[in-house]
Amino acid sequence: MTTGALPISVARRGLMLVLSSPSGAGKSTLAQLLLKEHPEIHLSVSVTTRERRPSEVDGIHYHFMTRERFERMRDAGDLLEWAEVHGNFYGTPREPVEEALKSGKDVLFDIDYQGTLQLYEKMRSDIVGVFILPPSANELKTRLERRAEDASGVIEKRLKNARVEIEHWREYDYVLVNQDLDTTFHALMSILAAERLRRERQLGLPPIVERLDQELAVLTD
Ligand code: 5GP
Repeated sequence: MTTGALPISVARRGLMLVLSSPSGAGKSTLAQLLLKEHPEIHLSVSVTTRERRPSEVDGIHYHFMTRERFERMRDAGDLLEWAEVHGNFYGTPREPVEEALKSGKDVLFDIDYQGTLQLYEKMRSDIVGVFILPPSANELKTRLERRAEDASGVIEKRLKNARVEIEHWREYDYVLVNQDLDTTFHALMSILAAERLRRERQLGLPPIVERLDQELAVLTD
């Protein structure tokens, strides 16, 4: 590279990448793949009153808590958004997200449409909303059963809720049909790459353009 060439990375404002889908559409798997490929992304760990599944670890998958504690956090304004999903409360702790964004990090959210709408209302220009659809209802059911961590009544509840969740697909910036995990994952990475390059997110551009202009002025003098 010649001296004086443009730097490869430009300082920019962090974005909020929101993934939503009905349970079982592959959203958590996609989130895990994305974090593996991009360890610089901060994952927002939600608080919930839902019971912990055997495979889940408190503080990693969720912060599990009582309804009383959840309500205290919510009433103190410590949640950026919150919603009741499948009869349990879920919410996004405000502070870690604000800290991450301030330090220029991107933040990944795995939240439902109710929470996404709240974030869109509060922080529209920071949000990149991606909705993930399963390829078919049967595939969704199979994936929920394969997970085999929820009782059959719970699975039925989640399938019913899938219809409500899917109704909101139009409210998102991007929609991916997750037929093939690898293809969907690459599409998600493309969305992230493009959104990171949005002009308004590249805070470091003005001095670079100014310098270019000065260099051009000298060259063309
Ligand atoms: P699960 O119980 O399967 O982990 O999650 C159920 C649903 O709650 C999923 O659609 C998930 O995206 C959503 N969810 C998880 N955390 C939050 C949160 O903090 N806020 C909102 N609004 N939804 C959440």
